[in-house]
Amino acid sequence: MKNIISRFLRVTALLAACLVLAPLAQGKKLNIVTSTTDLASLTQEVGGDRISVESIARGYQDPHFVEAKPSFLLRLRHADLLIAVGLELEIGWLPPLITQSGNPRIQPSAAGYLDASQFAEILEIPRGQITRAMGDVHPQGNPHYWLDPDNGRRIAKGIAGKLAQLDPENASYFQQRFQDFDKRLTAAEQNWDAQMRPYTGRKVVTYHNSWPNFAKHFHLNVVGYVEPRPGIPPSPGHTLELIQAMRRDNIKIIMVEPYFDLKTPNSIARETGGKVLVMTPSVGGEKPVIDYFKLFDYDINLLVNAFKTVQ
Ligand SMILES: [Zn+2]
Repeated sequence: MKNIISRFLRVTALLAACLVLAPLAQGKKLNIVTSTTDLASLTQEVGGDRISVESIARGYQDPHFVEAKPSFLLRLRHADLLIAVGLELEIGWLPPLITQSGNPRIQPSAAGYLDASQFAEILEIPRGQITRAMGDVHPQGNPHYWLDPDNGRRIAKGIAGKLAQLDPENASYFQQRFQDFDKRLTAAEQNWDAQMRPYTGRKVVTYHNSWPNFAKHFHLNVVGYVEPRPGIPPSPGHTLELIQAMRRDNIKIIMVEPYFDLKTPNSIARETGGKVLVMTPSVGGEKPVIDYFKLFDYDINLLVNAFKTVQ
């Protein structure tokens, strides 16, 4: 009896697996999960009303360390597509969720898994050996690459291609949506570039090394970090060195991600006559930042206002 039941269960599971592997039913929306809000926003731009998308991480969370709500396991179980930042940004929390989801479609070798880093320009790919002493260095390059709008465009294009592959009937719709996004992004970019142009070459300090792509695009010069090494909390010795370097070079801006303690940045600002800017590296990091466009609007507005008032 027990045998029959277990065989019945096995056959049922197999049938269920066949059902989920079937092509997208007509009129059904692609069910997409992204690791971060930025990828969700870009996916929404190209997917429009033919998809539903949700991010596991919230924009105000440190994307290196995310505690996913149990409800996300259910979401992942039913997902047609999972889009990740890659470059080991999510290595501490996403792989176990993918395994536990038991969803064959979103496993890293399957068609329903998309690593967005393949489309982007990646900076700081380390040469030579990486050791623990270097801190939390990402061996495949800096994973905070979405903070360059040109990468946002490349990622959106890559996502549009993947959506077309999974839902070929809507391929031209996704293509159209991408072209429209591209146009709006180009217009916004001209405005952001113009706002930042007077401050070309300005030196800044950031808490974590989240901003190399942003700095490259907008011609800022990141000359130091509040963290002594990536992922390592501030130490008195390093903080003192940083203060001395900032005084020497007259550096006034300290950019801090919203999930870090402000104690050390505030004391550095006091010692240097500088200014702490809580800049969000992700959509949803601050209330007004509801999409990929608002992300740059918000951060650039903060920076420009700060540059006007210091020095
Ligand atoms: Zn990082």
